[in-house]
Amino acid sequence: MQLTRRSFLKLTGAAAATATLAGVGLNKASASAAEPLRIKHTKEYPTTCTFCGVGCGVICSVRDGLVVNAEGDPGHPINEGTLCSKGSSLFNISYMFEEKGKPVPNPKRLTKPLYRAPGASSYEEKEWDDVLEMIAQRVKDTRDRTLVETVDVGGQQVTVNRTEAISWLGSAFCTDEENYLFHKMARGMGVINIDHCARL
Ligand code: SF4
Repeated sequence: MQLTRRSFLKLTGAAAATATLAGVGLNKASASAAEPLRIKHTKEYPTTCTFCGVGCGVICSVRDGLVVNAEGDPGHPINEGTLCSKGSSLFNISYMFEEKGKPVPNPKRLTKPLYRAPGASSYEEKEWDDVLEMIAQRVKDTRDRTLVETVDVGGQQVTVNRTEAISWLGSAFCTDEENYLFHKMARGMGVINIDHCARL
């Protein structure tokens, strides 16, 4: 038999794989009887990793409202399927393993806003509706009170419609799309002090 370089590599590769499987006590039958995939019966959602400004693409697999798996999106141009150690642990925001290995919702996950009143030394839990109402009212009051409609430029009144009393900070915990919307909203209100921890 004529042994080309290519067929030699195939043969040695197959031999090495067989030896490795045998060495760890696996054969074809036992490998196929492995425990079911963690992503079985899940729905996949593509999103962006929330940990840093690199913005790696992630596919989250969701079952019964829990993200049970997160892996790099191979079709994403930034990370092409890879994730660093932080991104690989993304699903732990949603759930963790109890002692017997069963996934349970992460009890440390904050699900309600915490509010510390002026002068208070501790936080209290609030309802989302109440807090969003309070924030919206304060932003509107500040914007209305400080809006500058025109400025004098060389003797001419130029329309600017801006406020310098509010600054807006985006977050790497949000997706690019969410940060895009934040930016549009801030500009729409006349906010000009806009930044982002990852300088997106
Ligand atoms: S996977 Fe790592 S590098 Fe990529 S965005 Fe998340 S934290 Fe950043």
